[in-house]
Amino acid sequence: MDFSVNEYGYYGNFGGAFIPEMLYPNVKQLQENYLKIIYSDDFQNEFRQLLRDYAGRPTPLFFAERLSEKYGAKIFLKREDLCHTGAHKINNTIGQILLALRSGKKRIIAETGAGQHGVATATVCALKGLECIIYMGEKDIERQAPNVARMKMLGATVVPAVSGSKTLKDATNEAIRDWINNPVDTHYIIGSVVGPHPYPDMVARFQSVISEEMRKQLLERTNSELPTHVIACVGGGSNAAGAFYHFLNDENVKLIAVEAAGCGIDSGKSAATTQLGKPGILHGSKSLLMQTADGQVIEPHSISAGLDYPGIGPLHAHLFETGRAIFMSATDEEALAAAFELSKTEGIIPALETAHALHVLNKIEFKKEDVAVICLSGRGDKDLATYMKYI
Ligand SMILES: *Cc1c(COP(=O)(O)O)cnc(C)c1O
Repeated sequence: MDFSVNEYGYYGNFGGAFIPEMLYPNVKQLQENYLKIIYSDDFQNEFRQLLRDYAGRPTPLFFAERLSEKYGAKIFLKREDLCHTGAHKINNTIGQILLALRSGKKRIIAETGAGQHGVATATVCALKGLECIIYMGEKDIERQAPNVARMKMLGATVVPAVSGSKTLKDATNEAIRDWINNPVDTHYIIGSVVGPHPYPDMVARFQSVISEEMRKQLLERTNSELPTHVIACVGGGSNAAGAFYHFLNDENVKLIAVEAAGCGIDSGKSAATTQLGKPGILHGSKSLLMQTADGQVIEPHSISAGLDYPGIGPLHAHLFETGRAIFMSATDEEALAAAFELSKTEGIIPALETAHALHVLNKIEFKKEDVAVICLSGRGDKDLATYMKYI
């Protein structure tokens, strides 16, 4: 089976570039140039250096001894939570900033829901001295005050989106409008493996450093580059894409993607896209998305802002359809319990998103010799206000 994108940006039945005509020139320029740019020596040298000295890579692969004892397998944690700004998102924003600079762009725009992608974008814009504009729903600006303050302190302009539900999808619409109006000098940084081709492939390549490191680290620790299981949570799917990337063609490695079931898959308050979604087009690509019978996008729900998304990237839709990845889910309550468990057994407070991935340790029947790697996508500082309600 082939899990790479074809020249039209498709993974099997999913992907493509469904965009307003005004954006053709921008997107076409990216499609034609991204691979040439990101695999040039000059780019790779600077990318690798910044990942090492600025983001803090390679991130450790930590053997979780007490969790391993409890679940009866060797369990490793890939510590993306130790990256600068607290999650894997910085891998992608560094990559896209370097690409923007080499494409002659001086102005960066992005949209953000919870603010994590906005903070990672504002961070690298500050590093490179670029103008940074972050679109954010007015409601999210109120809900995510600490991240808004971070972005402003980093020099970004935060622009409220005041239409519709005043959340992520409205911020996305504003960002696209800006891009149409400023096609020459502006690069739009998308924060996950979603959007029109080439974004899903480009973001997956930037995040693939996660599984590249895992293979080397596993070889040192277990004498094999291959684990039996790789487990990651899925919002849009970028940390999972990065964690799966270099194992996609190793059929014996089970890839497990964990979605947010919110209050329960059938509760009407969920974000379990593969379980509830149908093929459709959202934010520039064809994928699975949660929609009504007449194609209206259904508002998702998850306790974690980073998984609160009604779609999923086209690679993951393809992994689901072909059965290459196993899709599981965790409810809000199950994720909370898993977050408290990791905190107490290993001394690591995970992000709420990540806690969804941790939950499925309860659901998998491991053999003693199994080696499972969980992508610990982010740390929990940003979620303390939520955790405090349950302490
Ligand atoms: C944003 C975020 C996610 C979800 O995004 P993906 O693109 O699915 O990885 C997961 N974990 C953390 C910590 C995040 O900040």
